[in-house]
Amino acid sequence: MVGLVIVSHSRLLAEAVLVLLEGVSERSIPMACAGGTGEDHRELGTDAMEIMEAIQAVDSPEGVLVLMDLGSAILSAETALEFLEGSLAGPVRLVPAPLVEGGVAAAVQIGLGADLATVAAEAMDALVPKESQLGNDPAGRGGSSGGDRLSDSPSGEPGKHDQDQELSWITETFRIETAHGLHARPAARLVQTLGRFAVQAQIRNPGRATGWVNAGSLNRVATLQVTRGQDVEVRCAGEEARQALRALEGLVADNFGEPRGGDSDRDVSPGGGAAAREPSGDLAAAAGSASPGDDSGPVVIRGIPASPGLGLGPVFPLVVPAPAFPREGDALEELREGGFPALERGIGEVVGELHHQAHGARRSGQKDLAEIAEAHVLLLDDPELLEEARRIADLRGIPALEAFWRAAQEVAESYGAMEDPYLQARGIDMRDVALRLVARVAPALVVPPGMPTDRSILVADDLLPSQTMNLEADRVAGIVTLGGSASSHAAIIARGLGIPMVAAVSLPAGWEQSLAGVSLVIDGDGGTVEVSPSPDRCHRVQELIRRHREEAEALRREARAPAVLACGEGFPVCANVATLADARLAAANGAEGVGLLRTEFLFLGASPLPGEEEQLAALRDMTEPFGEHPVTIRLLDIGGDKEVPALDLPQEANPFLGVRGVRLLLEPRHKGLLQTHLRAILRLAAERPVKIMIPMVSLIEEIRGIQAGIALAGEALRAEGLACPRRVPLGIMVETPAAVFAVERFARLVDFMSIGTNDLTQYVMAAERGNPAVSALGDGLHPAVLVALAETVRGANIRGIPVSVCGELGGDPQAVPILVGLGIQSVSVNASSVAPVKRQLRGLHRDRCRGLAQEALRQDVAGANRRSPAL
Ligand code: PEP
Ligand code: MG
Repeated sequence: MVGLVIVSHSRLLAEAVLVLLEGVSERSIPMACAGGTGEDHRELGTDAMEIMEAIQAVDSPEGVLVLMDLGSAILSAETALEFLEGSLAGPVRLVPAPLVEGGVAAAVQIGLGADLATVAAEAMDALVPKESQLGNDPAGRGGSSGGDRLSDSPSGEPGKHDQDQELSWITETFRIETAHGLHARPAARLVQTLGRFAVQAQIRNPGRATGWVNAGSLNRVATLQVTRGQDVEVRCAGEEARQALRALEGLVADNFGEPRGGDSDRDVSPGGGAAAREPSGDLAAAAGSASPGDDSGPVVIRGIPASPGLGLGPVFPLVVPAPAFPREGDALEELREGGFPALERGIGEVVGELHHQAHGARRSGQKDLAEIAEAHVLLLDDPELLEEARRIADLRGIPALEAFWRAAQEVAESYGAMEDPYLQARGIDMRDVALRLVARVAPALVVPPGMPTDRSILVADDLLPSQTMNLEADRVAGIVTLGGSASSHAAIIARGLGIPMVAAVSLPAGWEQSLAGVSLVIDGDGGTVEVSPSPDRCHRVQELIRRHREEAEALRREARAPAVLACGEGFPVCANVATLADARLAAANGAEGVGLLRTEFLFLGASPLPGEEEQLAALRDMTEPFGEHPVTIRLLDIGGDKEVPALDLPQEANPFLGVRGVRLLLEPRHKGLLQTHLRAILRLAAERPVKIMIPMVSLIEEIRGIQAGIALAGEALRAEGLACPRRVPLGIMVETPAAVFAVERFARLVDFMSIGTNDLTQYVMAAERGNPAVSALGDGLHPAVLVALAETVRGANIRGIPVSVCGELGGDPQAVPILVGLGIQSVSVNASSVAPVKRQLRGLHRDRCRGLAQEALRQDVAGANRRSPAL
């Protein structure tokens, strides 16, 4: 018999569904459930391990059907499947059917002895009877923010207006200050935030006099074209309307996670933003061979710099594929037969794949890729789009899949017609994800384009993000697009892959033929494309590319040896690591271990929070590249600017001065969180050299509290027969003025100290880090901060405790000699700074640096240590 597993965030709900199913099935059927986290499963959340056990409990050769509620339940179920791969007696299917109705339909079929495919199909169609019973058009199905999808009103469809009026709406206005207004990412966060509440939510842009649109539809929200500085009105109805609006208020106050006053393009693209639109770099100059006025010279076309670097190679024209829908015959009939159920199944499957992709990308530290996949989920899984497809199918009598494709094209075109280049770039995302759906439901309709076999420059009207993701960096010397921008997802991915790219390049009509095979030199910093460069020019560019590569390689080779000062003293350079990608890069760049592993990054976007096994696995992965080198794991530093929405922490007026780091970990209500975290770290410490570091210490009791926590976790592990070392070196971050003033006393309790100059600077100077208005004040080389560093070294050394620096100052070339002179004994820096810092240290004498440090300490003018030529 097929087995059935019910997964819900709520244990009570999962168990209640099982009770209901037992009531409806005539025979006893193999069922299990998983739900809730924490002690007694009382907290809301899901745990992949528990789901795995539930599946194993009902595993049989006939297979297992898994129904889950929403969001992270899907991710956890997918993770469970990954763990189980190849170990089960039969297949497992995760289906996006409604939990209660789908469960009932599945249980009935299982009781009848149906096979897995039939059980899954029945579960998927489980809403049909209810819809007809209520006399609803099936198009009325679909979720907005927690309820029925609502019409756009007053301009929306007839018939729904009345329903709107019956609801009791609460309306609020929010000012949008993100760099690009409500573009795809903030719009996605708005949809997700409201989607967490049981409300019906609508939004409008009064500045453009738009009607109300469904705030559960990413496309609808993004197409309101809300730009920076505009107000939006949001109204919610339902039990949790006020909570939803409060959560939205928090999101807006946090500027949707974007830096305030900045331009997020510039954050990700050195060549992006304003500079991108006014390319000033000249390719010839960049290559060191300007030849102005040379008529016989190559044609240079200017575009937008989208990904830095120089590229040289023959043109490979690439087309964005379009599906060829059949007009007649069996293929058309087959497509018609599948209808909307096949389409919705396909959407569910692609959404599942995208979640899986996002999860994998997050785990491997590819945050950009994860965000792109998450944005694609929202674009595809949009109830408005499905409804539009139904309308088009009815109107034109075409198959559901083709109607959906057309609806998606309309959305893509309306994005494309927008004024904001950021929103324009979302058109290609819509097209990409729709194409992926078509290829999933009817693979024969999409012919993938050919890819170059030799190293070439890809030239295309535009590139789909999915095409860019699959590029092999060693076959692609560069990318040129006629459309696109530095903000396109293709550009973000190209930057991640290190492939130079120039966007928005005007090429003459018929370029596909006239340019095929022609050589190009592209400059992704200056934003230029040089057509048919002379052999001499190609040679010089090749030389330049080779030289850059060799220099980077030489620096990296040299960095494999330990860092030793010119006076012969060893000075370890470790790395700051937050993701697997950081860890790999840092190890390849010669890091002598990890001086700061920022564990909170495992938690920031996670829901549910990672359990012990997940933390252990992630920490193991991140520390593995460092072999036998020591790894300093900092306990969770949540708070300040590092929010963990799943913890649902109260808002604070001054989060940097609030419940942050060790203060949060020692709150009685977070005892379980701390114990799980410590257990994972201690288990890793049984496998490799690990040190534990406490963040944000300002009281001696905090060190004692963590020591007690470690002892408790160690005892529990040993009682369970799990390996755990008797002693793990314990240290503190020195990042509060209190820690500096009490350094001698704290030094009695710990094995090492590391100065977090990022926070120490903000607290010493009372200048919030990340606030551009006070960034000049927040300089770690300010004499006042240096005095705090000197005092820390003095107090710690009295007790023989070594001091390291793990804030950004440790990788700052102007600061390194001063730190050596102040008596710092090692640094921990970002992955990309490891090799240059090692090279710099090799030229320094401790004694000479002491003189520099004394001079720096004596300065009384802010900025003096930045100007001094001696430094
Ligand atoms: C610091 O404050 O210097 C530090 C390294 O910690 P974080 O930047 O993670 O707060
Ligand atoms: Mg800090």
